[in-house]
Amino acid sequence: MIVVMQPKATPEQVRHVMDRVEEMGLAPHVIQGTERTVVACVGDERLKSAERLAVAPGVEKVIPVLARYKIASREARPEPTVIPLGTGSVGADRVALIAGPCAVEDRASLLEIAAAVREAGAVGLRGGAFKPRTDPYAFQGLAEQGLEFLAEAREATGLAIVTEVVAPEHVPLVARYADVLQVGTRNMQNFALLAAVGGAAKPVLLKRGMSATLEEFLLAAEYVLACGNKQVILCERGIRTFERATRFTFSVAAIPALKHMTHLPVIADPSHATGRADLVEPVSRAAVAAGADGLLLEVHPDPENALVDGAQSITPEAFGRLVASCRKVAEAVGRSL
Ligand code: PEP
Ligand code: MN
Repeated sequence: MIVVMQPKATPEQVRHVMDRVEEMGLAPHVIQGTERTVVACVGDERLKSAERLAVAPGVEKVIPVLARYKIASREARPEPTVIPLGTGSVGADRVALIAGPCAVEDRASLLEIAAAVREAGAVGLRGGAFKPRTDPYAFQGLAEQGLEFLAEAREATGLAIVTEVVAPEHVPLVARYADVLQVGTRNMQNFALLAAVGGAAKPVLLKRGMSATLEEFLLAAEYVLACGNKQVILCERGIRTFERATRFTFSVAAIPALKHMTHLPVIADPSHATGRADLVEPVSRAAVAAGADGLLLEVHPDPENALVDGAQSITPEAFGRLVASCRKVAEAVGRSL
């Protein structure tokens, strides 16, 4: 980190800062400018408290140099993390498709959707058995029965199961059935849940909090990584802005920005980001063009009668068309799909 002293800082104040930096186990190097003095601190600063230096007399500001998300950062691991997923993977050249209903509704429709998305090229089947609903009276999911249906769909198709876990005490149950544990936008900073999935032996799909900065997003991923689970997939799913024409605002720039900051795979969820079935395909193309390692998509054979999120669900036929058009984009940017 770099400590910038105030213009009128005294030599005693600079000395005091150097002593504090040494106490922290870092080496201070003083740079005397014409206007002011800065103290460059060499060593691993991340576990030290920059705040304590910021309040020392004569200090104007403290500028961290290293990312606080130590394990998640690109500095820590320049090569991309690749996470196996069913018959494919996320983070390698091939763009991974994870598709399925918002919620598991019943056995027959789930098996129908699973077969259709598998046929079109998906490697993962999504579907919530535990639904984190804003409205307490809305459908909350089929719970363990939904997990059983998902496991049956995996048996039938070979698709990896991606499903949400909403409470730390549910992690052992969901991990028994799922291949990937999803943590939803409303739980991105549920630190007890992050620690619980961090201790699980299954990859985690972490969705960006709808009001989270990218740094907060990566610090949430860091919780999981620091608990020992190194398999985290990040998902941009739209953030809340003043715009009302779409359900959320899809941040296409978040994809290359995250890939610059971290080695973790980054996927996109155009369904929740837009809330509109007609926008899912063009936004999927944009996500692939921007470097997304995968897409998470809501597919339902009868969107009009879907129990949850029908407005943003595309039919299996529309999913097939989306795959064909995204494949062209993937090839144009040197990937496959
Ligand atoms: C979901 O993918 O099922 C979901 C609830 O999404 P989000 O957490 O992004 O709202
Ligand atoms: Mn949904």
